[in-house]
Amino acid sequence: MASGNAQVEGQASLFGDEDRLAASPRARAAELNRLLNIYAYRYYALDDPVVTDAEFDRLLRELHAIEELHPELVSPDSYTQRVGGYVSDQFEPVRHAQRMYSIDDAMNLAELDEWLARTDEALGSTPEHPVAYTCELKIDGLGVALTYRDAQFVRAATRGDGTTGENVTANVLTIKDVPHALAPEGLASVADAGLGHSVEVRGEVYMPKHSFVRLNEGADAAGREPFANPRNAAAGSLRQKDPKVTAHRDLETFIYAVADEAPLSVTTQWQFLQWLRACGFSVNPNAARCTSAHEVHDFCARALAHREELDYDIDGVVVKVDSFAGQEALGFTARAPRWAIAFKFPPEEKRTVLREIRIQVGRTGVLTPVAEFDPVLVAGSTIARATLHNIDEVRRKNVRVGDTIVVHKAGDVIPEVVGPVLELRPADSVDFEMPALCPSCGSPVVREEGEVAYRCVSIDCPAQAHERLCHWVSRKAMDIDGLGDELIGKLVAAGLVSDVADFYDRLTATALAGCPTGRVSVAGDDILVGKTIAAKVMEQVEQSRRAGLARVLFGLGIRHVGEQVARSIAREFGSMGALMEADEERIAAVEGVGPKIAHSVREFLSVPENLSVIERLREARVSLEEQRSADEPAQTLSGLTFVLTGTLERHKRDEAKAALQAFGAKVSGSVSKKTSYVIAGAAAGSKLTKAQQLGVPVLDEDALEQILATGEVPGGEDDE
Ligand code: NAD
Repeated sequence: MASGNAQVEGQASLFGDEDRLAASPRARAAELNRLLNIYAYRYYALDDPVVTDAEFDRLLRELHAIEELHPELVSPDSYTQRVGGYVSDQFEPVRHAQRMYSIDDAMNLAELDEWLARTDEALGSTPEHPVAYTCELKIDGLGVALTYRDAQFVRAATRGDGTTGENVTANVLTIKDVPHALAPEGLASVADAGLGHSVEVRGEVYMPKHSFVRLNEGADAAGREPFANPRNAAAGSLRQKDPKVTAHRDLETFIYAVADEAPLSVTTQWQFLQWLRACGFSVNPNAARCTSAHEVHDFCARALAHREELDYDIDGVVVKVDSFAGQEALGFTARAPRWAIAFKFPPEEKRTVLREIRIQVGRTGVLTPVAEFDPVLVAGSTIARATLHNIDEVRRKNVRVGDTIVVHKAGDVIPEVVGPVLELRPADSVDFEMPALCPSCGSPVVREEGEVAYRCVSIDCPAQAHERLCHWVSRKAMDIDGLGDELIGKLVAAGLVSDVADFYDRLTATALAGCPTGRVSVAGDDILVGKTIAAKVMEQVEQSRRAGLARVLFGLGIRHVGEQVARSIAREFGSMGALMEADEERIAAVEGVGPKIAHSVREFLSVPENLSVIERLREARVSLEEQRSADEPAQTLSGLTFVLTGTLERHKRDEAKAALQAFGAKVSGSVSKKTSYVIAGAAAGSKLTKAQQLGVPVLDEDALEQILATGEVPGGEDDE
């Protein structure tokens, strides 16, 4: 689903005259309801918001404030009285046995304290018996309800409007961490509780940040609309007619609630989280039981400080009365429980000035407009540019060079232009237009029918050639370390490399040594590639000859051929020769391929220049075969980096390392944000601690055994 979000700050006045409306609270309330309904429809129904969450929350709070002053204006259909959401007729409706609620917000610590004081008082908190609160991260995903009957998963529904949700069972079945059956440990409690044979748990479906980045990179490369943020990507991926699409998106869950009465043996939210774990659900590890406002503040401060290190988006902290008896005593308002509050993090948005919209030419010739703005510190790092994806997005965002713009990081990771501050727009600014000629080679630019992207279709375009070379050496393609963007630029300029076959039949360690790296010393001199580095790079080039057909197909940068597709084609045909002989229909029949990709592959294989590059690769002994023998397993772990730490009982460290590498994984000696998994044996020390701090998933030796047996990480990421 598309998400061309033109999220704009401070735009309410565009829709009406705020001052005039403020004079009439009734009219302003009606106007606010109208706007909130439009925005909520875009957000919930289309997964394509048109204003920022901060702007939406600001309008909702204004409506709350008006209604508080004028209670006669509160009507049952006011936005303040309902759970925001939408039920699409694409899915079978599911009536929730118990309503799914929203949560009231505290926008700052003062509001949080007010709620804590009110709740303490209502529940008779004393210094000897303080009321306990469970603090959990507020996962920015999509609320779902999962029903288990006789311990088996039977149904999943979205929150919808709180009363009725959408039946997304087939889609949720594709999410790997959703247990298909409750684990026996949890079951015992259900039976003890006399809950009967049905239990409904609730939680959040989300998309990890790294998967969101990958999904949007793929969208960019293929000229598709990107998603605005991981939350929209998760919602768009889950609310799909075809579960196969959901299966290829990397979705995960965190479960935190139950719809029925809680199991009798469990009387607090804190115990309940342990119970969920025992049942086999994914439960967020970052939670705390607090008995004072001070402890709650501490938790919120820690969550805010470590927010960026998590591989999922959070938009606050949910503070819940811990005891179920306390929760029952407080009950619910029309839209939210009185026993919980969401402490919302301040939006990480900054203002800066847009200096230029530069055109970048990608390896498939797609022209991407990139916003270049004054450097600004956002969420821990300085950003100075952000992709604007395509001309439709530039139009929707309504940005012009010279504008003061609002920027943030989507999913805390990807710099993104939110929109312009229209009041500050310079009088002489002009609309951006795509160039008619490719800025790199001067060839005419085309926009094919039905496509959002403009393309340079010249085969000789140097910018495309440069991007193709960079793609070939990239980690998920031939994985040649040491050949960065700038060095490749220099190699091209020096006439040493112009296509990917040149890495193998022209480039030598001698030629490479002495080449400028693209970096400059403090004294202002070019830093040159040294002999040792040149030898190491050539060793990597040598190694890459054995990467195999799947990586070659991906590395060639054939339009629409991503990693997963390349792997399927390679597995099916086994060799480049067999693929070359196959017609379009035969290629289209490969699982996950289809006519569009097949057409693109055939087209690529009919261009003489491409055939000549492939021939030179063959002559240079670059493997054009897919390794499928028992000793050379499929590269199912390609793109993943593991770190082994601690003492493994049943495996020698070196053997485990080699076995992981045989599946295409990288094994590194140190933990960083880029680490996919840490495998920790007994007495693991600082690496384990670091993994926990960075939110890197930690696996034990049993999981390692499963990986080595199956080539798949249990409950791990899908590689599409
Ligand atoms: P919400 O998402 O802010 O909070 C309630 C939800 O939080 C729950 O339903 C649950 O799904 C989720 N949640 C996550 N972690 C949880 C945990 N540990 N415990 C309990 N619940 C947890 O409320 P809402 O009413 O669904 O949506 C309001 C949000 O959506 C606001 O942030 C608003 O800005 C945004 N919104 C934005 C637009 C827009 O146009 N930008 C439009 C509508 C809504």
